[in-house]
Amino acid sequence: MPIRLLSTEVASQIAAGEVIERPASVVKELMENALDSGAKSVTISVEEVGRRMIEVADDGSGIASDELALAVSRHATSKLSKAEDLFRISTLGFRGEALASIGSVSRMTVTSKIVSSKAGARIRIEGGGEGKVEVVGAPVGTVVRVEDLFYNVPARLKFLKADVTERRAIDNLVTRYALAYPNVRIKLAEGKTMTLQTSGDGDRRAILAALYGVEIAKQLLEITAQDDGLGLSGYISPTALTRSNRKDITIFVNGRWVQDTPLTSAFIQAYHTLLMVGRYPLGAVFIDIAPEDVDVNVHPAKAEVRFKDQDRVFGFVQRSVRRGLLAYAPVPSVAPALWGARNESSKQVGIDWTIAHDDAKVENANPDMDGEAIGFPPSQVEGSVLNRVPLLRLIGQIGTTYLVAEGPDGLYLIDQHAAHERILFEKLMVQHDMHKIPSQSLLTPAVVTLPLQSANLLVSQLPTLNHFGFDVEEFGPNTFQVRAMPALFAGSDPSAALRAIVEDFEEDEAPLQNEVEKKLAARVCKRLAVKAGQTLSPEEQRALLTDLENCDSPRTCPHGRPTMIHLSVEMLERQFGRRGAR
Ligand code: ADP
Ligand code: MG
Repeated sequence: MPIRLLSTEVASQIAAGEVIERPASVVKELMENALDSGAKSVTISVEEVGRRMIEVADDGSGIASDELALAVSRHATSKLSKAEDLFRISTLGFRGEALASIGSVSRMTVTSKIVSSKAGARIRIEGGGEGKVEVVGAPVGTVVRVEDLFYNVPARLKFLKADVTERRAIDNLVTRYALAYPNVRIKLAEGKTMTLQTSGDGDRRAILAALYGVEIAKQLLEITAQDDGLGLSGYISPTALTRSNRKDITIFVNGRWVQDTPLTSAFIQAYHTLLMVGRYPLGAVFIDIAPEDVDVNVHPAKAEVRFKDQDRVFGFVQRSVRRGLLAYAPVPSVAPALWGARNESSKQVGIDWTIAHDDAKVENANPDMDGEAIGFPPSQVEGSVLNRVPLLRLIGQIGTTYLVAEGPDGLYLIDQHAAHERILFEKLMVQHDMHKIPSQSLLTPAVVTLPLQSANLLVSQLPTLNHFGFDVEEFGPNTFQVRAMPALFAGSDPSAALRAIVEDFEEDEAPLQNEVEKKLAARVCKRLAVKAGQTLSPEEQRALLTDLENCDSPRTCPHGRPTMIHLSVEMLERQFGRRGAR
């Protein structure tokens, strides 16, 4: 093919592809414009997950009638004029591309009025064509209505994910922006349902509750920090509250949601040694930095930023979160090396750990123990016959948390919660594989209300749940009715079970169905297993041991944590100086 210049139409569709990928990207760009315009109130309505219609209305400055045609053309912006301006951006937008891009892949109508003008104006663009401006009556502010997104780019439509996923992306986005802008009244309506509505009174707790659910929102710790031109505020999880992935860590820089940022690692590192391997904190932090110290022009959808002094910002975030954490609940370090436990989170990046509770102190407290690997070499944890535990003689319960038992080869300490998790999990999976999970009806059905995103997740998991002997159905907005539970869990709290199913669910998780089911079962078992701190009768203790002996993989819980620590006779002899060097 000879080389030729692309038509404007094709060129603008290509450019649009970088910015407008899915309905949530439209919502993001329009919401950013509304926030940039100084709006006090922003109302977002979507129909059919945004495929049919997305409308964003604000009460901000508006666009002058004679500038409307310009606003929707490419490279037209009121937010910067010189190249130097790029390095002191204080608005969310600056590329002058969003409206043009959206207009080239949909049927878009922009209606706007500024305060000094009597009438408003409207322009309609279809698939990037020219639009005519007409005079209309309108309140001060702007309404952008986007219909039939991607109607002229059928290939894009094919790339959209399932409705639940696209809806989650929108919910996620709007809720996070709501959290970042608590002084703006933000409403999100999907079809006829109002899914989010904030008061605009600056209270972030209420918005946190919408994002994470009331229970979690209550536990989050509020932090603030300042350091020479850097500011931070936010909410972080206490060490007892964790997730299986890092997706619930939200970072905003100068009012902009940044994803895939090294700052997420800084946040996680603040919890170094305080969380179990494979667990992550959650929370949201809002960082303020001088606009000239950050480059926002590094990503087409503006989802990443670069810092002049990345190490400084990294260290600041990490120290601020750590300090905040320790200020609320001085947590003793878990000494990872003491019992030969795996210590995976030891990737330290030149950080100052001297704030409190020095790890080194704990590790050196007993130099003799240092490096002594008690417990299981990791190679032994996986496996078949080796993996079984011998018959155990129960000695008792200590700290209402561990069982102590004797085996032919030494002493066993068993974590009652982890062990019970393993037992429930294997029983459930056996029943599941035989396609008969006994179900037990509840005397009175339980009604459970979940936060919006969890509710959406649960809906997508309902068929799987019903496989597992639950009888759950939708019962109003974000509300479910549980009529039966697997008999194995008789007597447990149905709402705890439902919450367990949706917490930690990974976005876009699309493994084999079998994997989904296993994960789901593991979550429920974790939530419904006996807890540490629960007193068990001698009969219950013995039953737990017997059940554990019968498990296929008794040595780890379904999440991979050890259920037991084994102190071999040989090891005891060595520790007491009965063996080896005298
Ligand atoms: P950018 O936001 O990068 O400037 P956009 O294409 O998103 O580019 O918008 C172009 C221009 O249209 C903006 O610079 C702004 O002047 C105007 N504009 C867009 N949306 C709004 C709005 N909701 N309220 C006021 N002005 C707006
Ligand atoms: Mg914009």
